[in-house]
Amino acid sequence: MNWIESFRDKEIVENLLKKIEYHILPDKEYKIMEICGTHTVSISRSGLRYILPKSVRLISGPGCPVCVTAQGEIDAVFELLKNNKNLTIAVYGDLIRVPGSDGKSLLDYRGNGYKVKIIHSVLDILKYAQHSNDEIVFVSIGFETTTPQTAFLILEAFKKDINNLSILVFNKTMPEVIDVLLSDENLQIDGFLCPGHVSAVTGDELYLPMVRRGKAAAISGFEPVDVLYGILSIIEQVNNKEFKIVNNYKRVVKGEKNKVAFELINNVFEPSDAIWRGIGLIKNSGLKIKKGYQQYDAIKRYGIKFPDYSEKKGCRCGDVLKGYITPDECELFGVVCTADNPYGPCMVSSEGTCAAYYQFGGRFE
Ligand code: SF4
Repeated sequence: MNWIESFRDKEIVENLLKKIEYHILPDKEYKIMEICGTHTVSISRSGLRYILPKSVRLISGPGCPVCVTAQGEIDAVFELLKNNKNLTIAVYGDLIRVPGSDGKSLLDYRGNGYKVKIIHSVLDILKYAQHSNDEIVFVSIGFETTTPQTAFLILEAFKKDINNLSILVFNKTMPEVIDVLLSDENLQIDGFLCPGHVSAVTGDELYLPMVRRGKAAAISGFEPVDVLYGILSIIEQVNNKEFKIVNNYKRVVKGEKNKVAFELINNVFEPSDAIWRGIGLIKNSGLKIKKGYQQYDAIKRYGIKFPDYSEKKGCRCGDVLKGYITPDECELFGVVCTADNPYGPCMVSSEGTCAAYYQFGGRFE
């Protein structure tokens, strides 16, 4: 068995399940939230919801960057494109399929002759901007993991004196939304499966508010064995009422902040309020470009206004992202909204909860 296979090994999984079963207390329901889209997909793909004891309830939170981008922000991208036919919009993959309020996606616009480019890294944009006369707007989404790359893009564009590029910054930050989740009386989460990727940048201090408020925290990787170890340590913390940040992902997360990444972010961005789909405005949970680099701010360059933040009629993505409902509780799930014909972003994104439930199934009760 190679090293990575050991994290998917059937025997280890069965042993961990036995340990979890041994530790769960009768009449206690353990509500565990994952706040990372990769965890959501990994849990669904490996069928963990089906094989865990019923009293262990895994709830998906607002961890998918495409999904938490507000409808008004998505619609503003379409307006920008419609009003500037010669503009090129650059996006990371999934964003191209997210429907606007009128049902059309960037993919549809591209089919109608508008310039929409999928990029795989910010280096693609730099190269494109250097060799093109087009005005390019990069729609930047993501959390602490991807924000340093956008900061790097802006710094490089500045150094290379690239002037045909600007950025729509929809990036969001984790600490403030964690605070919202902790304060939400409807949720009453016992513990959090903390995102491995984000933790590699933020370090584990991001989760101190959780343990200070009597919640368990386990930083986990994304293989079934990683996730089960995380769940086991959350159950142990809850039973013992001893809350601490357990790092089960030491092969990647070293516990400290990534100073280089934060230096990049802080050079270019400052905190700003942000609207999260379904949650609404969260103070200081977004970023805006600092004064010295404002020539790269697409909002300023094009005078972009954000029309309306309400969700598409019938789509309950917001409630899914808050962990209030599972996708099957949305009446459109699997009927009007499918992977081939997504109605809301939670079905579009490869990290979306609705997409994960649709593709791999959930534990519908
Ligand atoms: Fe929105 Fe579709 Fe999910 Fe319903 S199933 S919440 S319409 S994305």
